[in-house]
Amino acid sequence: MSTPAPDHVPGRAPDTGVAARARALTKAYGSGETAVLALDSVDVDIARGRFTAVMGPSGSGKSTLMHCLAGLDSVSAGQVWVGGTEITGLRERELTRLRRDRIGFMFQSFNLVPTLTAAENITLPMDIAGRRPDAKWLDEVIDRLGLRGRLSHRPAQLSGGQQQRVACARALASRPELIFADEPTGNLDSRAGLEVLGFLRDAVAELGRTVVMVTHDPGAAAHADLVLFLADGRIVDEMERPTADAVLERMKRFDVVRGRLGDDVTVLED
Ligand code: ADP
Repeated sequence: MSTPAPDHVPGRAPDTGVAARARALTKAYGSGETAVLALDSVDVDIARGRFTAVMGPSGSGKSTLMHCLAGLDSVSAGQVWVGGTEITGLRERELTRLRRDRIGFMFQSFNLVPTLTAAENITLPMDIAGRRPDAKWLDEVIDRLGLRGRLSHRPAQLSGGQQQRVACARALASRPELIFADEPTGNLDSRAGLEVLGFLRDAVAELGRTVVMVTHDPGAAAHADLVLFLADGRIVDEMERPTADAVLERMKRFDVVRGRLGDDVTVLED
């Protein structure tokens, strides 16, 4: 990897716009002696039309970073933009509208409503908002995800992989520019996980979306265009065109360096 320019912001790509960015983003939980600094003055750009993975040991701040970038959590200090809109300081109503219109979410646990069919789950956020889905777009998403024959099934009648595909369709349904996925393969076997990662790639390469995926799995991170490495609430490294082996090596090397410096040694897994 080449040495980045001194003014380089992690995540920035020279030839794309920026779908989201944070400057001096700080997030503390609690106060006084029990305060935890989950994010420590993070600067990051999320390049538009790319697949960015966020990796790091458990507790390094991955989920907090995602939640703050997506306007799901408030920040303690610093600024966050989605596209050209600064979201830090938006009122809750405006934030809700921005999340609804411009961001799609996927979670490790699918978060489907058990009493609704796959089709109803896919359009639920839009139904709640009183917005009509773009039928042509929705058809394309459903076909790409191979859900055509499963639309009348309820979540309990679907495999884990199929449920996550429904969640992926739900994230894409409103044509959001940005999709945030928090450990989307964490509850899936490797085959279903690969399938979901393939769909996230397609969402970027063929549907022109921007995807940010939090993961602790080097194999999953290898599907991204870029991996950002987090440790102790800071972005400490990044890797273009990652492979699973290179990501794993990076994590190991990083641990060794930290150990030698006498800091707390970071563990890879819980
Ligand atoms: P990761 O996603 O990398 O596992 P998190 O972003 O979940 O890390 O957490 C970063 C740090 O912030 C951890 O030390 C965690 O314990 C702490 N943290 C996260 N959420 C909360 C919360 N709601 N209250 C208190 N501490 C929290």
